[in-house]
Amino acid sequence: MTSIVVLGIPWDANSSHRFGCAAGPAAIRAALHSGSGNDATEHGRPVVPELHDLGDLELLNERASTVDADTITAAIDQQLCAGHAVISLGGDHAITYPILRAVARHHDDLTVVHVDAHPDLYDDFEGNPLSHASPFARALEDGCMQRLVQLGIRTATQHSHDQAHRFGVEMIGARDLAGFDAGSLRGPIYLSIDLDGLDPAVAPGVSHHEPGGLTVREVLDVIDALPGPIVGADVVEYNPSRDLVDMTAMVGAKLLKEIAGRILTTGAG
Ligand code: MN
Ligand code: MN
Repeated sequence: MTSIVVLGIPWDANSSHRFGCAAGPAAIRAALHSGSGNDATEHGRPVVPELHDLGDLELLNERASTVDADTITAAIDQQLCAGHAVISLGGDHAITYPILRAVARHHDDLTVVHVDAHPDLYDDFEGNPLSHASPFARALEDGCMQRLVQLGIRTATQHSHDQAHRFGVEMIGARDLAGFDAGSLRGPIYLSIDLDGLDPAVAPGVSHHEPGGLTVREVLDVIDALPGPIVGADVVEYNPSRDLVDMTAMVGAKLLKEIAGRILTTGAG
């Protein structure tokens, strides 16, 4: 039986624009336990008591820190070795590369489904190989996944398109979401959700506002459609200092619940 661990990864030193995502995990937890809602998923599973919350990982929270990256990889690896599926709460998107390094140790045929406004494929961004603009470039270079499917992309430079072509990334824009065929996914799946993939009207608590994004319902439909097994997930880029009446924290908490429900329903393999 699958068990789910929740781990806060408060690493926000690799942002290119604003900081504040280190406070994200605590704020999403507060929303999850606020009493505003209940413990059940939309499918009626009371999932919140089934989450084993490990709190926040202790990090130096330094820019381009390979020590921090290695700490994250080791922490995820430890949970996977114990047979748990991990849902990580960021932090900025830089956390996903060290997470994927660990997941790839356990799954050599991984598919990553990545919701974001941005492809995060920069070969180099401001001289920081661990930038939050580059996690998927680093993970692809390391061979961490067999397939990367990006959803909700709506601002990509020519360089990013070139990188997508180089690595065979399937980039599905926000306007083309109907073209996502979840039924084509095979094998273990890792889900990475950058909250700026959603429209800033429903998720303003992010550092980079990119209008024209996904609705909460569209992202929930993506989660529901994943065939599984889902072996891990992250929800990143929540920046409480940018939020309005905690609405993005609640979106993060809802996604956390529904992802957990989907992992438990499909099995983590
Ligand atoms: Mn991102
Ligand atoms: Mn983004």
